[in-house]
Amino acid sequence: MAEVRDILVVGAGPVGLTAALAVRATGRPVTVVETGGADRVRPGSRAIFLHRVTLDVLNRIRPGLGWELVHRGLTWRTKRTLYRGREVFRRTYAPAPADVLPAATSLPQVVTEAILLEASHQAGVEFVWNQEVASASARGDAVHVTTVHGATLAARYVIGADGSRSAVRESAGLRLEGPRTSSAFVIVDTAEDAANPLPLERVFHYEHPSVGFRNVLFVPFAGHWRVDLQCRPGDDPDGYGSDTGVRDWLARVMPARYAERVTWVSTYIFRQAIANRFADASMRMLLAGEAAHLFAPFGARGLNSGVADAFVAAQAIDRALSATTPEAAAEAIGDFAEARRAAALRNRAASSDALRHLEAASPLRRAIRRTAALVAPGVPAVGRWMDRAPYGPPLGGVDRHGMYY
Ligand SMILES: Cc1cc2nc3c(=O)[nH]c(=O)nc-3n(C[C@H](O)[C@H](O)[C@H](O)COP(=O)(O)OP(=O)(O)OC[C@H]3O[C@@H](n4cnc5c(N)ncnc54)[C@H](O)[C@@H]3O)c2cc1C
Repeated sequence: MAEVRDILVVGAGPVGLTAALAVRATGRPVTVVETGGADRVRPGSRAIFLHRVTLDVLNRIRPGLGWELVHRGLTWRTKRTLYRGREVFRRTYAPAPADVLPAATSLPQVVTEAILLEASHQAGVEFVWNQEVASASARGDAVHVTTVHGATLAARYVIGADGSRSAVRESAGLRLEGPRTSSAFVIVDTAEDAANPLPLERVFHYEHPSVGFRNVLFVPFAGHWRVDLQCRPGDDPDGYGSDTGVRDWLARVMPARYAERVTWVSTYIFRQAIANRFADASMRMLLAGEAAHLFAPFGARGLNSGVADAFVAAQAIDRALSATTPEAAAEAIGDFAEARRAAALRNRAASSDALRHLEAASPLRRAIRRTAALVAPGVPAVGRWMDRAPYGPPLGGVDRHGMYY
């Protein structure tokens, strides 16, 4: 019989690490089991934008952690929006006072993960590396986890933070539901030229004239620029994402030297999917992060809401472990599952709004955008709308756990 731990987290991605830290903040021991090795370097470039609320949650989990991300990231304070090359909106915010968290910080996801991993070691999280979970099943008071190498682990509660192909989710009989978007995006990271840096501005171009009137977004993050090109229906995203394709269009929208400084390219068709439930029938397996939801990144809701999932899951498990009846324990987990699924539904609605606006698939939507661009210089509210709409409505709500969504 495997030793029965209190809490096992599957997956040492940013959400699994946050969940482990949040469990340690409740004073309980926690083990993370991860398919990769301790010294792995994760490929790819994903989340670069962490909202203030996320930094605040991380500070609550471990004092100073959110601040560390701020110090390693950068905070841009100017945003600009252009329509067919003509500026329709510009705003520069005052810097936050030194003791107040900024509105956001922008840094590579690999740096965020390295900071969370270091914090996890310091907090005494136990790791089991190089073990891919094959299945998990709830029996009696415990969840039994088996790895592809035949190791078994058992815990009273399991947080499945094992990403979009979650083995925990599959084992629990839960499924992701939701559509794939129709538009393809080419996402490029290119290294900042430190000797001659560009102004730190987030710039969105509706219908950039230099790339056949396709939408282009520029976001600075620590040491880099993220550039998103929205393909049009009928485009070949692989062509735009190839070495020569990227060099060609990037040099038309940025100083040409940035085409020689590309560090990462990927092409995406995004999925907007949410698990049908965030906890299994036994109320012992909980889902968090991409195991539970996938959103298009406009509005930066994926990792930001994954951090909230992780925090609420750890709190719920703490309540469940302290509960005096099985019913009270199940209720604590049920509260988590309901609240975080509701947040995911709101996040998906918001990122779907953003996508509809970006795609402007109907003549009416395109006409509204064109008219808005004409009047924006004289009507500030319209300019603000044009600037905001590519990221979806501001969320700003607080659920009953005090978590923003
Ligand atoms: C282009 C792009 C840009 C994005 N930008 C943003 C942004 O700016 N802000 C934002 O909030 N979000 C953003 N996101 C989303 C963000 O990247 C994800 O939400 C985040 O990576 C999810 O983290 P996770 O820990 O849930 O999953 P993952 O990062 O996928 O981690 C899962 C972990 O589980 C491990 N694992 C998987 N299967 C098993 C198994 N069977 N057994 C053991 N371990 C396993 C994996 O090795 C991995 O370590 C973006 C996404 C993309 C694609």
